[in-house]
Amino acid sequence: MTTCPPDPCPPWCVTPHGELAGEDDRVHVGEPVVIADGVLARPCMSVEPGTGTTDGPYVLIGSTECTPAEAEALGRALIAMARAGAVTRPAAPGRRSPGP
Ligand SMILES: [Zn+2]
Repeated sequence: MTTCPPDPCPPWCVTPHGELAGEDDRVHVGEPVVIADGVLARPCMSVEPGTGTTDGPYVLIGSTECTPAEAEALGRALIAMARAGAVTRPAAPGRRSPGP
């Protein structure tokens, strides 16, 4: 007996469906991105067969489940932090508060 794959997969799903049984086969998982120290981030969602009710999509960062909006906010914060950290020159004299 073969298992029906969960249809349709979202475009980012890279899961080979049909290899796992039951509920595990209904989870769509995307390509992982290595964040740091073995922590991965990856998109995921599940679809309830019959009803088509979805749980997700989420972005799993390690074991933390973020909404796509939360993951985008985190990405923007990281970019802002990286850009601010890339500036190593002191602020221009006119932009500093006057000393005593
Ligand atoms: Zn899938």
